[in-house]
Amino acid sequence: MDGMKKFFKEQAQILFPEVWELAREIGENPELGYQEFFAVDVLTRFLSRYGFDVLRPIAGLETAFLARFQGKKPGPRIAFLAEYDALPEVGHGCGHNLIGAASAGAGVVLSRSEELLGEVLVIGTPAEETSGAKVTLVKKGIFDRVDAAMMFHPGSQNVPEVSSLALDAIEFTFIGRSAHAVAAAQFGVNALEAMITFFNNVNALKKEIPDDTRINGIITEGGTTPNIVPDKAVARFYLRAPRRKGLDELQKKVIHCAKEAASSVSAKVTWRKFENSYDDMLTNRTLAGVFTKNLRELGIKRISSPQVAMGSVDMGNVSRVVPAIHPYLALGKGMNIPHTRDYTEAVLSPAGEKLLLLAIESLVGTGWDLLNDPKLLKHIKKEFYQETDLWG
Ligand SMILES: [Zn+2]
Repeated sequence: MDGMKKFFKEQAQILFPEVWELAREIGENPELGYQEFFAVDVLTRFLSRYGFDVLRPIAGLETAFLARFQGKKPGPRIAFLAEYDALPEVGHGCGHNLIGAASAGAGVVLSRSEELLGEVLVIGTPAEETSGAKVTLVKKGIFDRVDAAMMFHPGSQNVPEVSSLALDAIEFTFIGRSAHAVAAAQFGVNALEAMITFFNNVNALKKEIPDDTRINGIITEGGTTPNIVPDKAVARFYLRAPRRKGLDELQKKVIHCAKEAASSVSAKVTWRKFENSYDDMLTNRTLAGVFTKNLRELGIKRISSPQVAMGSVDMGNVSRVVPAIHPYLALGKGMNIPHTRDYTEAVLSPAGEKLLLLAIESLVGTGWDLLNDPKLLKHIKKEFYQETDLWG
C-alpha cells in the first residue's frame, strides 16, 4: 500500500464515527423513494461541513443532490453515488443507508488529500427501489461531464463485477362496458375476461421465451362487484431480460398478447410505463479490476468471480453513459436475506459497521487510482466505448 493509501486509511478511521452515525440515523429513520428528506438533510449537511458545494434539488427531483469538491489542480471528475431510500414495512432492508453513508464518506476522505487532482462528486440518487431517479439524472445530463461513476451495495459475497437485468414496468388497462351481470350481460363487454385471457396468453408466451427473461404480473383492478360486468381491469407487469434489445422484443410480444386478449371480447386496451425503465448493468471490467485490486490491498481475500444478478438496478442506465461499477460487498457472513426485517437489523449491527468501513476504504482507493493514473482512465474509457458500441 502506498503512502497516500495509508493516509486515506487513517482519515477514514478518524472520520468513521461520524459516517457511521449518518448510516445509523438514516437507518433508524427510513423514508420511501422521493420522500428521503431527512436522509438528504443529514448527508448534505455532512458534505457541506467538509467543504463540498451542495446543489439541491437537481434535475427537478426534490430529494436528489449534487455535491462537488474541486481539487487543487485540474483533472478527471469522478462520482460516488449515494442511495438512501427504504422499503415499506421493513425499512432499510436493502441497506441503502450504508450506500449513502459510504459514498458521502468516501467523497470526504478523498477530499482530505492536499494533492487531490480533478473533482470529486457525491451524487444523491433517490428511489432506487421504485422508479429509480438515476434514470432521470441520466436523461437530464447530470453524468455528461463525469469520467467514472461508482457505488457499493451490501450483498452476500464480495463481487466487484456484476450484471443486472433490464426492466420495464408496464401497466395495462382493459376497458369494456358495464351492464347488469345477469339481466343484461349480453350488453356488457367484460374487461376482466379480457384480462384473464391476457394472463393466459402471457403464460403461453412464457413457454416460448428464453429462460433468462422474466414476466411477473399482478391484477390491481378487476371490477367492483359480481353483479356488474366489469368495465375496467388493470394489471401491472415487470418485464426483465439480460439486455435492453431482448427486452424491447419481449415487450412487443407481451403487448401483442394484450391486444389479442382485448379483441377476443371487443374490449379496448391501453398501456403505459408506470415506473422508470432500467437498462442492464454494464460493469466496466477495467474499473472493476481497480476496485478488486483495492480490496486485496485492504486484506480481502474472498473475492467472487463475475456474476449475473437476478435483479435490476437503475445504475444500469448510468453504466450506459459513463464507465461504472456496482460492486457488492458481503454483509457479515452473507447469510441475511435482503428485503427482510432481519436484514434491516443486520445493516445496523456491528456487521454493518464493519462493512461500511470497508466500502469507504475500497471506494476511496479506487477513486484515488483513477484520478492519479491518466493511462488507467484511458483504458477504462476505451473499454466503455467498445462495449457501448457493441451493445447499442
Ligand atoms: Zn438495493
